[in-house]
Amino acid sequence: MKKTLQTLAFTVLSAFLLASCSKNADVPVVQEKKDNADKVMSYIQRLGFSQSDIVDNGDAYIVDGDIRFPKDMVVPDGKASTEQQWTGSKLTAANALNVRIKVDDSMASMMAEINSAIDQWNNIGGDIALHLSIVTGTSYDILIKDTNLGAGICGQGTFPSNGQAGNLIQINKSYIAGNSFAQRQRTITHEIGHNISIMHTNQTGGMQIPGTPVTDALSLMNAGQCNSGATVLSNYDKIAARWLY
Ligand SMILES: [Zn+2]
Repeated sequence: MKKTLQTLAFTVLSAFLLASCSKNADVPVVQEKKDNADKVMSYIQRLGFSQSDIVDNGDAYIVDGDIRFPKDMVVPDGKASTEQQWTGSKLTAANALNVRIKVDDSMASMMAEINSAIDQWNNIGGDIALHLSIVTGTSYDILIKDTNLGAGICGQGTFPSNGQAGNLIQINKSYIAGNSFAQRQRTITHEIGHNISIMHTNQTGGMQIPGTPVTDALSLMNAGQCNSGATVLSNYDKIAARWLY
């Protein structure tokens, strides 16, 4: 009987403790989220972007119109290493060799464009360990889906976090539908570039990749060139990818 009472008391006490924990559980989680979002904001600013370049989009900060930095991303430690640009956050070697792309049903009609984009990144040649493929199962690294991003934005990529490729590419499908095949696949190739850490060649933010120039008119990673930019990776885009991977 005594034991039962003790057990009961313990159970009641535990229940009380659990209740009080869960009652306050929201507070630290919210604070943690805010702290991480602040870290992501200062990381973006360290990369050279001013506050006016950065748009708060709820769960992510959007930079240069088409680059998502999720507020829960893992901000890389250390300093900027040293001319195509990157973010200081890239895929681990193992992940770079196996970038699994899942195509949402909403993008099934642009499968040929997606395959063309993947081929560009897979056929850089030379000393590079990067391989992308399409998967259909529930495990994947990048999801490509159709999203209405409004006029002027062809697509949106996501920067890598914690050694993994950015997990989302949004394509403004109806907006680019009237573009040529080459330009539609350019948009997808460009956004994939963001998801594997490459920033905009023609912007000042980011870290310069050794061996690449400050400007490269032929770069597929130039910003603001939806439906007008390069449709194949430039020589320096390839040098950038080889340097990263
Ligand atoms: Zn871009």
